[in-house]
Parts: sequence; structure tokens; C-alpha cells
Amino acid sequence: MRFPRSLVDQPIICRLVKDYNLVFNILKASVSPKEEGLLVLELSGEQRDYDKGIQYLAELGVEIQPLSRDITRNEERCTHCGACVTICPTDAFVIEPLSRRVIFDDAKCIACELCLLACPPRAMEVHF
Ligand code: SF4
Ligand code: SF4
Repeated sequence: MRFPRSLVDQPIICRLVKDYNLVFNILKASVSPKEEGLLVLELSGEQRDYDKGIQYLAELGVEIQPLSRDITRNEERCTHCGACVTICPTDAFVIEPLSRRVIFDDAKCIACELCLLACPPRAMEVHF
């Protein structure tokens, strides 16, 4: 889920639990440089409650994205500039100390897509 700045301090997850009987497990939470909230969580509950909860989020303006997207790096395009390293909320990029090359660990990627825009040569790609 991506929250606009205006919603970052709202008790949205609390409402999902209390009003929609959903159980959650937070996998990742962060605030981007633009002060948008990013929350990756597993939600479980009755399908009807889940649908209503998702509708509630959408009406609030929360952007919802399933984790089924696959993010890859086009190795030919990557210039190892490092622009993605600080923007990634899950530390999926690290700079190798000796070579100064940027290593991408796709197992850590939560498909938030922040690096897609941050990458100058557009080396990061999303697949559906
Ligand atoms: S921002 Fe793009 S080009 Fe730069 S290191 Fe990351 S993936 Fe490579
Ligand atoms: S999409 Fe990019 S910024 Fe987001 S978690 Fe994956 S590697 Fe990190």
C-alpha cells in the first residue's frame, strides 16, 4: 500500500482490524523521501470483509498493489551509479565495497517500484 502524505498519520490499519475483522502481518513499513508511506503487509480474513476493507482503503486514496509483480534489472543498462541504493526501502541494493558495483538482491524486493523512476538509464523493469 502507498499512502499519500496526508494519510501517513491516520490509524488506517487499526480500522482494518476493528471495522473489517482483518488480521495483518506487517512485512515492511517506510516513509519515502517525498513523505509517502509505504506499507507491505499480509492481510487475512473473510473474503467479504477483505473486499470491504480494500474498498475502504481505495476510497481513502491508498494505492494498493499486489506483490505478484516481478522486478528485474537489465544488466546491460545498469551503470552502477548507485541512485537506487538509498531509495530502496528494503535494502535490495548494496554497493560491493571493492568493485563499487551495485548488487541487486531480488529476494529482498517488495515490488514497490520506487527504483524504476530513480534509475537514470531505466535499468529497472517491472513484469506482470
Ligand atoms: S539506479 Fe539504475 S543504473 Fe544506477 S545502480 Fe541502480 S539499477 Fe543501476
Ligand atoms: S522495486 Fe526497487 S526500490 Fe522497490 S523494493 Fe524492489 S528493488 Fe527496492
